[in-house]
Amino acid sequence: MTTPARRSRRRADRQDVIVAGGGMVGAAAALALAHEGFDVGLVETRAPDPWKESDEPDLRVVALAPSSARLLDQLGVWQSIRQARCSPYRHMHVWDAGHGATLDFDATDLDIDTLGWIVENRLVQHALWQAMDAAGIRRVCPAQVVDFAASDDGVHVTLEDGRDLDARLLLAADGASSPLRAMAGIGTRGRDYAQRGVVAHVGFERGHAETAWQRFLPGGPLALLPLADGRCSIVWTLPEARARDVLALDDAGFRDALGVASDLRLGRVTSCTPRAAFPLRLLLAERFHAQRLALVGDAAHVVHPLAGQGVNLGLRDVATLRDAVTLAQRDGRDIGSETVLRRYARRRRSAATLDAWSFDALERVHSARFERLAMLRGLGMRAVDRIGPIKRRLAAHAAGR
Ligand SMILES: Cc1cc2nc3c(=O)[nH]c(=O)nc-3n(C[C@H](O)[C@H](O)[C@H](O)COP(=O)(O)OP(=O)(O)OC[C@H]3O[C@@H](n4cnc5c(N)ncnc54)[C@H](O)[C@@H]3O)c2cc1C
Repeated sequence: MTTPARRSRRRADRQDVIVAGGGMVGAAAALALAHEGFDVGLVETRAPDPWKESDEPDLRVVALAPSSARLLDQLGVWQSIRQARCSPYRHMHVWDAGHGATLDFDATDLDIDTLGWIVENRLVQHALWQAMDAAGIRRVCPAQVVDFAASDDGVHVTLEDGRDLDARLLLAADGASSPLRAMAGIGTRGRDYAQRGVVAHVGFERGHAETAWQRFLPGGPLALLPLADGRCSIVWTLPEARARDVLALDDAGFRDALGVASDLRLGRVTSCTPRAAFPLRLLLAERFHAQRLALVGDAAHVVHPLAGQGVNLGLRDVATLRDAVTLAQRDGRDIGSETVLRRYARRRRSAATLDAWSFDALERVHSARFERLAMLRGLGMRAVDRIGPIKRRLAAHAAGR
């Protein structure tokens, strides 16, 4: 039972915000709120591996949109990421295996210097974690949130080792299988793509020309993303069984298979790291908030990687939440109140839902084997490529404008 003495101690120790999960999105959320003057705590199950320049680049990379780079810049970590290792891509070339239609985007279409940057996940997380001490964030790691109880007064968080924490607001940034989402009784919608994203870093005979290449194949898209050392990071979406076969190939077999899948667009594959694979699914939380709880990042939405937008959506959650909470604080309102969280959830849920189902539709149209649909797809791609305003709108959306 909670005694009066314990209750008043709790209030004295109470932080403004506790973030559960210190992946890229949770770490960015903690920093963004600490920069606005909030007292922030971060609980993470497992400390991230440090990033070292001498290490082989992390197999997991993300394509960061200019809107994400802007947020990371506001958090004071973008310059260190750029200087460490990061590759801009100024062009995007998409082509269809069925009808040979192509679609090209160029940074100059948007009057910008670059469409985005390919960055290692570990580097982004490392840079954010490095900045936490200076921002006064209290880290509790390794530690796991196993329960929480929200009330009009605040939220009480219980950790696996029996410690407890109190705050006005709790953020669930605990990833796609979010335990906090389940604890809050928030359901999800979506579907399992029955596909895996096979990733590796590979060298090709020809350079990547600062271009993100994507070929749509019947089993799923193959992306070749430019790395700073001249190689490409691949995300090869394959049906489960085919992914297993491809992972089981020896290096020479894998290089040959990838050469065929990439249409030899950059020539033969000359080198290849070990491969890894990730299950792909579409997931949308039915609500992005509950009493004193807000969901951000993959805890709220998981999208197909074909548009390279997963973490970009998560960082947009962070920017929207930061703005909503900062405004509430400035107006003297409770930052964990239903009104504040509902406003955040409404804005982000509608935007993320539209994106998630658009990427899903794109996946369905491109993996369709029906001849008529494949023909329409070719016509659609050619039309988009020729109609400047539509093309510019698509590029601007991907850039987070
Ligand atoms: C193959 C592939 C390619 C992708 N490519 C791109 C791309 O090009 N561009 C892009 O934007 N996105 C991309 N994504 C998506 C992107 O990787 C994810 O959206 C992003 O990593 C999600 O970050 P997150 O911080 O929300 O979640 P996570 O990285 O999953 O972090 C969640 C954290 O919460 C912690 N945690 C879990 N439970 C608890 C608990 N109870 N208590 C405390 N801590 C807890 C975990 O340890 C973990 O560190 C890709 C994804 C895949 C699979």
